Amino acid sequence: MTRLPDFPELAELEAILDAGAAWLDVRVVCEVATGQRRFPVYAVALGNPDPDVPAVGFFGGFHGLERIGAAVVLVYLNSLVVRLRWDSVLHRQLEAVRLVFMPLVNPGGMWQGTRANPNGVDLMRNAPLESTEGVPFLIGGQRISSRLPWYRGRLGAPMEAESQAVCKVVEEQLLLRKFSLAVDCHSGFGVLDRIWFPYAHTALPFGHLPEMHALKEIFDQTYTSHDYLFEPQSRQYRAHGDIWDYLYQRAAARPENVFIPLTLEMGSWLWVKKNPRQLLSRHGIFNPLIAHRLQRVLRRHLSWLDFLGRAASGWRRWLPADAERERHRQQALARWYRGGAT
Ligand SMILES: [Zn+2]
Repeated sequence: MTRLPDFPELAELEAILDAGAAWLDVRVVCEVATGQRRFPVYAVALGNPDPDVPAVGFFGGFHGLERIGAAVVLVYLNSLVVRLRWDSVLHRQLEAVRLVFMPLVNPGGMWQGTRANPNGVDLMRNAPLESTEGVPFLIGGQRISSRLPWYRGRLGAPMEAESQAVCKVVEEQLLLRKFSLAVDCHSGFGVLDRIWFPYAHTALPFGHLPEMHALKEIFDQTYTSHDYLFEPQSRQYRAHGDIWDYLYQRAAARPENVFIPLTLEMGSWLWVKKNPRQLLSRHGIFNPLIAHRLQRVLRRHLSWLDFLGRAASGWRRWLPADAERERHRQQALARWYRGGAT
C-alpha cells in the first residue's frame, strides 16, 4: 500500500486496513488522478456478506474540505477493527449485519483542499436528477463553470468516477437487501448537528417517512439527551443532483426493500476549523493526549454511527406496520411538513 505521510486521512485508512486485514473485504472501486498523483477510492466491508442480512453504509469525504466527516468515519472503522480483537459481542452482531465503508469518496479533492473533485465537480450536485421546485442560485447546483462552487458537471456527461463508484457500491451492497441504511458524514452547515433525510430536490415527503420517524423515535428513546436536529434536507434548501435522492429513487425499483439514506451534517466541529490539517495527523485524533473537546465531539457521533448498525441488525423489531406505520406517518407529516417544530 502507498503510505502517504503528506495525506494523513489516506495513511490512516490504509493503516486501519492493514490492522483489520483478517476481517475486512477491501476493494479499490476507482482511482483518481490529480496532477502527478493517483489516489485509490476504497470500499471496505465487514460482517455477514449474506444478502439476506441488513446492511449499513458509512460514507465520508465527499467534500474535500470537510475533513471532520472523513475523520468520524475513520475513527468508527478503527474502533470496530480494534474491538474485533477482543469483543465477542461485536462478532455476534456482525453475524446479523453487513457494514460497508467508503471513508474517502473524494481523495483528489481532499488532497487539493477543495470541496469539489479534481475536475471541479461537486459530487453532491453531480447525479442526473433535477429539482423542479426552484433551487437557490449557485448553491443549489450550477452548470455555468467548474471554476465556481457547486458545479454539477456538463449536461449529459456521465457521472464523475467517484459518484459512479458510490452508486456501484450502494447498488451492489445495500439496495439488494430487504433493509439498509446509509449515512454520509459532512460538516459546515450551521452550528447544530443535523441528521438530514430525503428529499433534497423536492419539498414533498419521501416514501419511507414512517420508517424514518420510527428510527428517530427509537434513537430519541435510547439517547434521551442527544441534541441532533432531524429534518428533511429540503427544509433548509433544495438542490439539483443530490446523489442520495438519486439512489433512493433507484431503490424504488425494488419496492419490497427499505433503503433510508441519511446525511450527518456536523456543526459541532466549528471550534476546530482553524487547524483542520492537524486534526488527522498521527498526533491528532489517534493520540491519547488529544484535546478533550475533540474526543467529546467524536464520541458523540460514534454513538450515532454505532446506533445505526444496531438499528439495522434489529430492524424487524422496530419497523412499523399497518396502524402503527400510519401513526408514524401522521406524526412525521405534522412534525416536518405542516409547519411543526422539529
Ligand atoms: Zn459536505
